[in-house]
Amino acid sequence: MQNARPLPSYLIQRYQGWRATTFTENRVWYRRLAEDGQHPRAMVISCCDSRVHVTSIFGADTGEFFIHRNVANLVPPYAPDGDYHGTSAAVEYAVTALKVAHLIVMGHSQCGGVRGCHDMCSGQAPELEERTSFVGRWMDILRPGYERVAGLPEGERIRALEQQAVLISLENLMGFPFVKAAVESQEMSIHGLWNNIGDGTLMQYDPASGGFVTV
Ligand SMILES: [Zn+2]
Repeated sequence: MQNARPLPSYLIQRYQGWRATTFTENRVWYRRLAEDGQHPRAMVISCCDSRVHVTSIFGADTGEFFIHRNVANLVPPYAPDGDYHGTSAAVEYAVTALKVAHLIVMGHSQCGGVRGCHDMCSGQAPELEERTSFVGRWMDILRPGYERVAGLPEGERIRALEQQAVLISLENLMGFPFVKAAVESQEMSIHGLWNNIGDGTLMQYDPASGGFVTV
């Protein structure tokens, strides 16, 4: 591999600052994490978007959350076909090996992936329909969600689709036999959240009302 380059200096400086302060002050904690292994209480599936900061909004420490991020926080349907399934692999490990108590899917406002799905499904982004578009084929997971929100006024559709990304993911999660078994035996609970980036609001899916309510 001839293409990799040394880190830019601003990152080296930030790393050295962390090593000299946070790491040094918590040396025992880090050693214990290394020797005892990880025991996260929750898995979080959130978007790659740089504005989504789940450790920050929950004040989470190193070792607390097992986090998987992908475009638009989507869980694909259960498909044991021998193909590459990064998200499904992360779910399998968290549930069957780490035995997390909570599995949280968190969506967010202004999601570019969801916007892309909306534009693709409404005919405004033909490039995403190409077979070679990784984003387009990934966002196919959310197509059933688009069908559910297509009748809403335009101003409400994107937010509703962002929340559908959470719901469809929860529905797909329940298609994984080991997730279904853990939920039904009450060893694990699943949760759906949606975070408004601009005003900090956190909403959670409420099965009683079938909608998202503010936390
Ligand atoms: Zn996003």
